[in-house]
Amino acid sequence: SVAIENNVSYRPYDPMFDQKTAERVQLIARVRDGLAHQEFQLFYQPKICLRTGQHVGSEALLRWFNHENRMVMPGLFMPKVESTTLIDPVTRFVIARACETIRSQNLMPVSVNFAINNLMNPSLIGDMERIVRSYGVNPESLEIEITEGALIQDPTHAKEAVKCLRDQGFKVSLDDFGTGYSSFQYLSHLPLSGLKIDRAFVTDLEVSADARTIMESMISMARALKLEVTVEGIETLGQQEIVTDLGADLAQGFYFSRPLPLQEYQHWARDR
Ligand code: C2E
Ligand code: MG
Ligand code: MG
Ligand code: MG
Repeated sequence: SVAIENNVSYRPYDPMFDQKTAERVQLIARVRDGLAHQEFQLFYQPKICLRTGQHVGSEALLRWFNHENRMVMPGLFMPKVESTTLIDPVTRFVIARACETIRSQNLMPVSVNFAINNLMNPSLIGDMERIVRSYGVNPESLEIEITEGALIQDPTHAKEAVKCLRDQGFKVSLDDFGTGYSSFQYLSHLPLSGLKIDRAFVTDLEVSADARTIMESMISMARALKLEVTVEGIETLGQQEIVTDLGADLAQGFYFSRPLPLQEYQHWARDR
């Protein structure tokens, strides 16, 4: 029985396994097609400076309008795309569109989301400055958001990649902060420029003293590390007031605006 237990290649037949693999392969093929047929669009969600109330930039969020013109949210396809080589053309598409938007709005910054496999791809990371300059944009205007996953999976390479981006002049923020596993000690060794506190920490701010205490310590820790602090998922005026009092720098959330198609976002910005 020891021999059988050690035989790692042994796996009982699992019909679900084959089905899931087939679905995954199909999804990837449809994303590749969709990219070729212009089915992808960026939506933009404004970023607000809490001290001045001013609109200071936006985050680009991917949307897929499939053949029936139904909008597909990134949570339904990006996790699968991110684990394949297709993440490279998808991210390059996002960068290209984001740069066009930056140019069209007097260089107001736009943030884009990078997957672990983008961060681990030296031919993308090392070429970023040339790429954005080829679209007429300076690295200062394109900001990059990464998640804790990359930092945990391969801290040494993640750190090198972040440093490489920072050396080229890009801002790099850690997204969804607080939902992963990265320790505070670890954060101080990364050359990040900002930190985005996950919206999970915003929900109870108005009703729970504990939630406020946690938010307060995350913000003061980030400030002590000289990181620009963004709070995600602000949905009410009360939440905005609390995070402003606690010293956060920037905020995003439905309270200011949902992510909008480019034209609507530009109207929103003009009317403000
Ligand atoms: P994220 O980067 O943390 O983006 C924030 C998500 O929170 C967005 O969801 C946004 O619509 C949502 N959100 C913003 N404000 C509020 C609020 O006040 N309340 C609530 N309930 N939600 C709010 P979305 O657009 O569905 O994107 C989900 C995730 O998909 C993103 O999380 C990001 O991880 C990923 N993603 C989106 N676009 C891209 C992309 O171009 N590349 C990569 N690699 N990932 C992307
Ligand atoms: Mg993000
Ligand atoms: Mg986030
Ligand atoms: Mg997220």
